[in-house]
Amino acid sequence: CGQCILVCPTAALREKSSVKEVASALYDRKKYCIAQVAPAVRASIGEEYNMPLGTDVTGLLVTGLRRLGFKKVFDTNFAADLTIMEEASELINRIQNGGSLPMFTSCCPGWVKYAEMNNPEILDHISTCKSPHEMEGAVLKTYYAKKMGIDPKDIFVVSIMPCTVKKYESARPELKEEVLPDVDAVLTTRELVRFFKIAGIDFNDLPESEFDNPLGESTGAAAIFGTSGGVMEAALRTAYWKLTGKELDKLEFEEIRGMEGVKEATVNINGMDINIAVVNGIGNVKQIVEEVAAGKSKHHFIEVMACPGGCINGGGQPIHQKPEKVMKRVKVLYQIDENAKHRRSHENESVKTLYREFFGEPNSHKAHEILHTEYFDKKKILRN
Ligand code: SF4
Repeated sequence: CGQCILVCPTAALREKSSVKEVASALYDRKKYCIAQVAPAVRASIGEEYNMPLGTDVTGLLVTGLRRLGFKKVFDTNFAADLTIMEEASELINRIQNGGSLPMFTSCCPGWVKYAEMNNPEILDHISTCKSPHEMEGAVLKTYYAKKMGIDPKDIFVVSIMPCTVKKYESARPELKEEVLPDVDAVLTTRELVRFFKIAGIDFNDLPESEFDNPLGESTGAAAIFGTSGGVMEAALRTAYWKLTGKELDKLEFEEIRGMEGVKEATVNINGMDINIAVVNGIGNVKQIVEEVAAGKSKHHFIEVMACPGGCINGGGQPIHQKPEKVMKRVKVLYQIDENAKHRRSHENESVKTLYREFFGEPNSHKAHEILHTEYFDKKKILRN
């Protein structure tokens, strides 16, 4: 990832700019350009405009993207809720039907590539869910295109991401619908700042506006995807509801929040102890992976984020190394969660509609075709 060359599994440190490519697509009248924004970007981009650390600029960001010429601006958080619906169902399925456990999260391409290059023996432990921005792209080029009567070939999806590795991820050949990539281009937070400057957009002076719908609705659970422990916390809220039919009394899992390298907890659901771990930074994953490879892991579910602190401190963000500064950004995401009308992914009405109108149910055959992916032994590919 972007924070440290010693732990970078992808050598993605040198950011290849996509500004020109996106500008060309925006000028092309045949293209229907859609932007989607990751949770971490809204908590950091204000720093580039002299706003205090920890300012939520969601509304300004949406207006700025519209001014650049995007026809629609959607929220990757919508697909974070969708990811949770798929991932929680996959975990329950593995627990109930003897699948490979523990299950690792899959939304960090830095982690996925690390595993493919270094520990291919554990690939069947990684959730097959695509990462949220890839799911959003896949839904845009299938369900949304059909609903709106747009030829998927004309849709150009741009992901605004805190992450340099998402550029590599969007080019993975298996992340496609038919022959079209789920995501056409990725701009990092820093690239978007450059783009706004080139376009003469004065970010500080923009009015606020809201995401488009239906792929703009999200819950508080999706917002915390941007920080270490957030994916796990969001998944537990929904897994608990799926297994018990009841809602958790307390939604916050304090044990897995914060900047520690490995955080662990045990959650009792319906009399069963579910052991969880959160790996914060790829430098802390080795021992956990070795335990899994040796069949000695006590865990059921493990989140791994390559960047220390998670995407909020990703390689495409304004650069800050001090944990206390990163924590100010993290606070924004927890605040969005606390203030949200709905705080559990299964309460997202647009996600419910998507299942009703298109996928049927989580982990259905169609959902597997469009929202899930596969991994490869890259060690072997490189050897041959
Ligand atoms: Fe990218 Fe987030 Fe993973 Fe860092 S933690 S490599 S920003 S997905």
